[in-house]
Amino acid sequence: MKLFAVGPVEMYPETMEIGGKQVPYFRNEEFSQVVLHTMDMLKESVNAPEGSEAIMLACSGTGAMEAAVMNCFSESDKVLVIDGGSFGHRFVELCQIHNIPYTPLAVDRGETLTRNMLEQATGEEKFTGLLVNIHETSTGQLYDKQMLSDFCKERELFFAVDAISSYLADELDMCRYGIDLVIASSQKALALAPGLSMIVASPNALQRAENSTQKTMYFDFRSYISNGKRGQTPFTPSIRVMYELEDRLTRIYEKGVDKVISETAEIAEDFRKKIREIGLSFPDYPLSNFETPVIFPENSADAYEVFLQLEKEYGFVVNPNGGDLASVQFRVGHIGNHSIEDNDMLVDAIRQIMDK
Ligand SMILES: *Cc1c(COP(=O)(O)O)cnc(C)c1O
Repeated sequence: MKLFAVGPVEMYPETMEIGGKQVPYFRNEEFSQVVLHTMDMLKESVNAPEGSEAIMLACSGTGAMEAAVMNCFSESDKVLVIDGGSFGHRFVELCQIHNIPYTPLAVDRGETLTRNMLEQATGEEKFTGLLVNIHETSTGQLYDKQMLSDFCKERELFFAVDAISSYLADELDMCRYGIDLVIASSQKALALAPGLSMIVASPNALQRAENSTQKTMYFDFRSYISNGKRGQTPFTPSIRVMYELEDRLTRIYEKGVDKVISETAEIAEDFRKKIREIGLSFPDYPLSNFETPVIFPENSADAYEVFLQLEKEYGFVVNPNGGDLASVQFRVGHIGNHSIEDNDMLVDAIRQIMDK
């Protein structure tokens, strides 16, 4: 079995070794040092501004999205939500649940998000924040960070970025783009087990959290910040995944964050070139290095059938698309323990199934 999925993804042998060990006790100095070291690497990996803090949550990525919405926005905000797919829509639902005034900006299928669309959606009204999944995993579109950054700076919007499926696959720099909050999660490009989500909060975000009036115990950033200063969390963390994360980030630093991203870009470009050669295509809006939506032309194989056969005959797992796209498209992840040779094997298998 080989995972070409978008999460969980193909893990590294070192990570799996950590996964096989006894989980240690954690309210001690040894674990605190692991956490502090991890938090430092995490902040540095996104070039967080001076005074930022990392928050380690024992939940899946959606929990971190909810925590971010609850701690950084209130009923007196007005948030623009990029509603460009199922993850964007999750932010819409979170704003509804937590009574945050918002306007959704729908990105239609195949459409590229533009500055003009931002202007149209906001008009003359005063907005206070922007919520975006910088790579909308359900479509593969990577939104233009510079464009969103300029818009947020000009209008003084709090810029909150779900980078769960972009962190370590595409460049990300909080200082450069004026990003106020970044969300990442363990099971995507980090290639760890699920269950750990991370937020890097800028001083702006910390100030919003400090003044938050939302009622929550588990997601109250204030207790994560005060405990985090000594390398601890208010509740039992995903201890094993924290060890996996420290190991992974240490290895990523040895190689260089930029190199990790450029290698993923190479694998993605190579894959896109090879599927073109067998008559398949991909969307023409900007794509993340994280994944490729593979489009089957009319009168060729049924994408869902190919997805089933890939798993059954070859043990290769890709992500089927839902709804009316199921028969024409599936998605292939490029993150995790993958090589150019894996691309060859996968493209070869797709070709063989199509030729049948
Ligand atoms: C995977 C993902 C999430 C988190 O999903 P969970 O199933 O809750 O881990 C959130 N946002 C994006 C963009 C994702 O790709």
